[in-house]
Amino acid sequence: MLFAIFVIVTPIAVWLILHFMSRRKSSVETTEPEDLLEVCAVCQNEFMMSELLEKEIGGYGRVYCFCGQCIETLYHESQKKNKTNIETGE
Ligand SMILES: [Zn+2]
Repeated sequence: MLFAIFVIVTPIAVWLILHFMSRRKSSVETTEPEDLLEVCAVCQNEFMMSELLEKEIGGYGRVYCFCGQCIETLYHESQKKNKTNIETGE
C-alpha cells in the first residue's frame, strides 16, 4: 500500500516541481527584454533597454541604441552648426 502511494505521488510531485520551475522561467523571460542592459552607441554607457532608442543604421540592418542624453547633444550640435553656417554665409 505504501509503495503504491509512493509510485503515484512521486511523479505528481516531480511534475508539479517541473511545472512550477518552467512557469517561473517563462515569466523571467517575458520580463527580461525591459530589464536588459544595452550600451549606447555614442557614449558607450549602459542603460535599460526601455530608456534607449533603437534605430536601424545602414543597409545591413544593424540596430544601434542611443540614449536620450546623446540624442539631445547631437541635436544641439546640429543646431549650433546650422547657426554658424548661416552666420558665415555657407
Ligand atoms: Zn549615449
